Amino acid sequence: MGPHRENSGQRNPMQNALPEAERFAALLEEYPEKMDRMEKFDPKVISLLSEHSVWKAVHGSQGAEASLTTQCRWIEALAAKCTSTAVLVQSQLTVGHTILLSGSPLAAQLLDEMREGTIWGWGLTEAEAGSDILSMKTTAHHEGSEYRIRGSKRFISNAGIATRYLVFARTRAERSSKSISAFVVPADASGLSIARYEHKMGLRASPTGDVVLDDVRVPGASTIGAVGEGVGLALSTLRWSRPLIGAVSVGVARGAFEHLMKAVAPTEREMMELTSHQAKGHRIAELLMEVMAARSLLYEVTTRADTTGELPSMWEAASTKAFCSEAAMKVASEALEIAGRASVEVDAPLQRCYRDAKILQIFEGTNQIQKNAIMKELGAVDFARL
Ligand SMILES: Cc1cc2nc3c(=O)[nH]c(=O)nc-3n(C[C@H](O)[C@H](O)[C@H](O)COP(=O)(O)OP(=O)(O)OC[C@H]3O[C@@H](n4cnc5c(N)ncnc54)[C@H](O)[C@@H]3O)c2cc1C
Repeated sequence: MGPHRENSGQRNPMQNALPEAERFAALLEEYPEKMDRMEKFDPKVISLLSEHSVWKAVHGSQGAEASLTTQCRWIEALAAKCTSTAVLVQSQLTVGHTILLSGSPLAAQLLDEMREGTIWGWGLTEAEAGSDILSMKTTAHHEGSEYRIRGSKRFISNAGIATRYLVFARTRAERSSKSISAFVVPADASGLSIARYEHKMGLRASPTGDVVLDDVRVPGASTIGAVGEGVGLALSTLRWSRPLIGAVSVGVARGAFEHLMKAVAPTEREMMELTSHQAKGHRIAELLMEVMAARSLLYEVTTRADTTGELPSMWEAASTKAFCSEAAMKVASEALEIAGRASVEVDAPLQRCYRDAKILQIFEGTNQIQKNAIMKELGAVDFARL
């Protein structure tokens, strides 16, 4: 049984989107293009999240995490307008879930701070340890009442804007799932620095950087979860966070579809023309089916998790992440072609969706790694019980 969670409270999971999430997301409309060009968040977007109590809504009330369905509905709505903002919220929810899952004595305080808008980074990946996390080289040595952390984390979202990092480090030398532990490291700890930022094709407002830990000392009580349980904690978290990336993907697919409709049928007259152009209309109909299929899969998985109180299984989480991100890529790519020449400008919203969608296929485990995870659990799939 996982941590205590609110039920989604929706008897019919396929009923309408979450109105407060949609209303908030509409406020973001003016920012994505500007932020994509600037390659950073407009501070106004960060303050809007706090002013409108979005952090409280997505994390849930004290003592009960918001349901996975609620979190995904928020993320879908945000991603339909601004993928980088959706990823900011998604990465917070990922860290929040790890903390909750760990049962750490620090959990209540850390989650309260998150509800007030403290931003975190999740530090697992390294230059030589992406898909294969056991290759991690960052170490944490216990010395007296402290841990001394040495190493470097690569491709870390929220680098430079986070005030805390959840850092995974090796506490034992051998290559084993019991060799890695998780630590809370404040961004202003002596020895922590951001060495460089990635200049990315997509998700450009979301800062991604190298977090260097040069003999960073943290108190012994900074561990999140038991020593040696970092891999287990990270893998359990993926069962929550991969559906969240599914939600980002559904939002991007939906956003691309909406941008396409604005481009090809902005008025009643153009809509009439479109329906008389069967070849084009069929292509667009197929994209709508793609968005609906991804959305149905996502909320089927989240509803089951919320109803049973169990985490989605690894194969469900992986299927959701892989299928929805492939759908986002397909819809954005096709929509770009159908919209034609206007959409190839760098600032065109469909171009942004296309660039963002590519990253969704890669991070939180590439889609090849998702298929490996599904493959390992093929024997556990029982449609009669689903
Ligand atoms: C924008 C962005 C933000 C990110 N944010 C974070 C973050 O906040 N925190 C964090 O810890 N990480 C983060 N990451 C890292 C991300 O999770 C990794 O990039 C991802 O797990 C893939 O690792 P890699 O890039 O090292 O690829 P590699 O592991 O080098 O893989 C390269 C290729 O080989 C394939 N491959 C590798 N192993 C196998 C296998 N066993 N079977 C089949 N194919 C395989 C992969 O599918 C891929 O196509 C982020 C990445 C990006 C792009």
